[in-house]
Amino acid sequence: MNFVILDLEWNGTYSRRLKGFMNEIIEFGAVKVDDGLRVVDTFDALVRPQVGKKISGKIKTLTNITNEELADGLQFMQAMSRFRKWMGEAVLMTWGTSDILALIENSRYFCGSERIPFLRQYVDLQNYCEQMLHYDDTKQMGLSTSAQLLGINEADIAHHRAMDDSMLSLRCLRKLYKKETLLPFIQNAGTDAFYEKITFKTMIICDLSNPLIKRSDMMFHCESCGRRAFREGEWQLKNKSYRAGFFCRHCGSRFVGRVQFKLKYDGLVVKKCVLPCKEEDKSLPENTAELPARITRFKRAARPLL
Ligand SMILES: [Zn+2]
Repeated sequence: MNFVILDLEWNGTYSRRLKGFMNEIIEFGAVKVDDGLRVVDTFDALVRPQVGKKISGKIKTLTNITNEELADGLQFMQAMSRFRKWMGEAVLMTWGTSDILALIENSRYFCGSERIPFLRQYVDLQNYCEQMLHYDDTKQMGLSTSAQLLGINEADIAHHRAMDDSMLSLRCLRKLYKKETLLPFIQNAGTDAFYEKITFKTMIICDLSNPLIKRSDMMFHCESCGRRAFREGEWQLKNKSYRAGFFCRHCGSRFVGRVQFKLKYDGLVVKKCVLPCKEEDKSLPENTAELPARITRFKRAARPLL
């Protein structure tokens, strides 16, 4: 079994046809490895932008790609076709799903296709590495963060160049790779369900009358004695989460209960946390206030109906 680690660079540009912004792919970089993660081959291609004729200054600085270099690049469909032949039957890997979303967006724009022809089996390397490192599951681990956590020397890596980022992803994978732990992460990417899941946009529910919310989601227990606490005052919506004061009749303690509802493809994720009253009074920004509190987070298994 071979694996291909793909990384893309893109330029955010306005499309008159779409009447909106799109991420136009300007570079493919990939490395092919065998199942011992030995490099078999590499692939590199610049793509000539057709929607945004020139790349933005930000992308130019970030990638060091110039408009002159891009002028000699392939057309998107040519790059896709070469990549497809080069990739063969390999399992595709990307760091996070945003490269796959960009491929879907560009395929739809340039050839009206909703499917990526070479995508049959897929691994989200970011997810694999997060799980292997037991990374905080409320956060996403960037490639650089992962490399730092794994003690990887990045001195020779040009960040935000497709080939170098795919090589860096490979170095991270090498530190954590065990064949038997990777196998469950290989997804069948040839199904409608795969595309539905990957294109699903997480929503935050800001309406307490939503039928997915259960009464028990809004209940809080006292941190000191474990008994059910009573709400004092109304729920308030702040920073896309609900908060209210609670009082424990048993031990007299007061706290603020906070709950947030995220609707993901797999179901509703309820994140609850208890904040000390004092912290709340200072109205700290969301992330700072989260630090001293214990967070409970659970996922409801059932697929919600929208
Ligand atoms: Zn109590």
